[in-house]
Amino acid sequence: MPVHADYRPAPVFFDLGPDFADAVEAARFPKADLRFRNQRAAAEVGLDGLSEAEWIAAFGRFEPLPGQPGPLAMRYHGHQFRHYNPDLGDGRGFLAAQMWETPQATAARRGARPRLLDLGTKGSGQTPWSRGGDGRLTLKGGVREVLAAAMLEALGVPTSRAFSLIETGEALERGDEPSPTRSAVLARLSHSHIRFGTFQRAAYLGRVDQIEALIEHVRSLYHPQVAAGDAPGLLRAVVEASARLTARWIAAGFVHGVLNTDNLNVTGESFDYGPWRFLPSYQPGFTAAYFDQTGLYAFARQPEAVFWNLTQLAGCLKLVAEVEPLTDALNGFGPAYIRELRAAFLMRFGVLSLGEAADQRLVDTALALLREGGEGLRWEPLFFDWFGGFASAARALSGPRAKLYQGEAFDAFRFALMAHEPDRIERLEHPMFAAREPEEMLIDEVEAIWAAIDAADDWAPFRAKLARLEAARLAWAFTA
Ligand code: AMP
Ligand code: MG
Repeated sequence: MPVHADYRPAPVFFDLGPDFADAVEAARFPKADLRFRNQRAAAEVGLDGLSEAEWIAAFGRFEPLPGQPGPLAMRYHGHQFRHYNPDLGDGRGFLAAQMWETPQATAARRGARPRLLDLGTKGSGQTPWSRGGDGRLTLKGGVREVLAAAMLEALGVPTSRAFSLIETGEALERGDEPSPTRSAVLARLSHSHIRFGTFQRAAYLGRVDQIEALIEHVRSLYHPQVAAGDAPGLLRAVVEASARLTARWIAAGFVHGVLNTDNLNVTGESFDYGPWRFLPSYQPGFTAAYFDQTGLYAFARQPEAVFWNLTQLAGCLKLVAEVEPLTDALNGFGPAYIRELRAAFLMRFGVLSLGEAADQRLVDTALALLREGGEGLRWEPLFFDWFGGFASAARALSGPRAKLYQGEAFDAFRFALMAHEPDRIERLEHPMFAAREPEEMLIDEVEAIWAAIDAADDWAPFRAKLARLEAARLAWAFTA
C-alpha cells in the first residue's frame, strides 16, 4: 500500500498488553461503496495517497495498514445514565490503527509536538463485547456522525473527525429507524479512544497494576507535562481538557445526547455521535436523545454531567492516590469551565479578551439576549450576525434579524460586545459573511439530507452541505 513517507505507524495501545483489548476481525460485507473520504484528515496522517481500491481495502475490509497489528476491540465499562454497566466494550467498533500526525499537521495547528492519532471504527462487526447486538452501524447513523463532526470542527470544538464512510449493503433492523435500513461502516480519526470507562473497568476488577499502566500510558502519550506517577496531576489535566470541551459544546449550541462515561475520553475530544442535536434557540432543557426521559443530558446540564463523570474517573484513581489531592483536582472543574466558557464566547464572537469581568459580561448578556429572544432568535445567527463585534454592527442591524436587535437585553449585549476589539477582523471579508443566513445544523436539514439519500440515493445535498461546512471552517478560522 503506497503510504506517504510521513505515515508513521505507532500501535502503542497494543503495547499495553492483552488485558486491555481483544484481537478481532472485521465483518465481511456484501458490498463496499465509498460515500465519504476525508482527504484533509488523511493528509494529516500520510494516508492521502491511497487509491480508491486501497482505501476500501483499509476502511471497508480493514486489511491492516502497514505497521499495524490488526483490529483491537477495546475493553471498558461505564456508567450509562448513571447506572454502572460492566458489559460494555467495543461492541461494534475497534481500534484499527494508530499513527503520528505528520510534521505539516503539527505545524498547521501550531502544536508544540506531534499528536498520536487513532483510527477507530463504528459498525465494523461483532466482537466479544457485542452483547447480542449486530455490531453494525446504520447508514443514517454514519451520515449523521459525518455531519456532526464536520460542524463541530468548523465551530472550533475539539472533536474526532469522520475519516471514511463506506456503505456495506446489508439490511439492518432497528427499533428506532424505519427498518430494514441501509448499513455502513465508519472510520474516525481521534486523539484517543481511552475512555473514563477504560479506567473504570480496571478499578472494578481491583487491578491496581492496570490502573498504574493506564496512568503512565495516558500521561506519557497525551499529557506529557504531568510528572510520572502523579495521578492527581493527570486528573487535573483531564479535568482541564474536559472543561474546555464542555464550554465549546455550549458555545456551539451542541447537545451530545449520551454523556456516559464510555463516551468521554482522556484527551477531552468529543466523539461517538449518536442522537446529537444542535439547539434551534436557547432552551436550557433541550434534550437530544428520545430515550433520555429525565433530561439528564439536556443542553444546560452537560457541565454537570461531565463533572459527574469526572468524579467517577477520580474514584478509580483512589486506588493509587490520596483522596485530598484528587478532590482538589476535581474541584478545578468549575473554575476551569467558567474560564473556558468566557474564552469560547470570545472565540465565537471573534473578539479579543478585555479582562475577566468584561469577558464574563459578554457571556451573561449574550445568554440573556438569547433567552429573551425565545424561539425567534435562533442560537447560531447571533454569533454569525455579530462576529467581530462593532465591525459587524452595520451588517447585523441591516440583516434579516435587525428587528430582534432592540430592547434592554439587546442594549446590554451590544454594550458588552462593543467594548471588545475584533480578533483578526480580516476574516469578515470571507464571502460567508455576505450571506444572510449562517450555516446551521438543525434537525430538519439533517433529515432532509438523509431523505434525499434514502429516497433517491441522492448524495448531492450531503456533499453540498460538507462543502459549505468546509467553507465555514475556513471563514471562522477558529484555532484550537
Ligand atoms: P454507544 O451508545 O454507541 O456509545 O454504545 C454503547 C455500547 O453498546 C458500546 O459498548 C457499543 O459497542 C454497544 N453497541 C451499540 N450498538 C451496538 C450494536 N449494534 N451491536 C453491538 N454493540 C453495540
Ligand atoms: Mg460509545
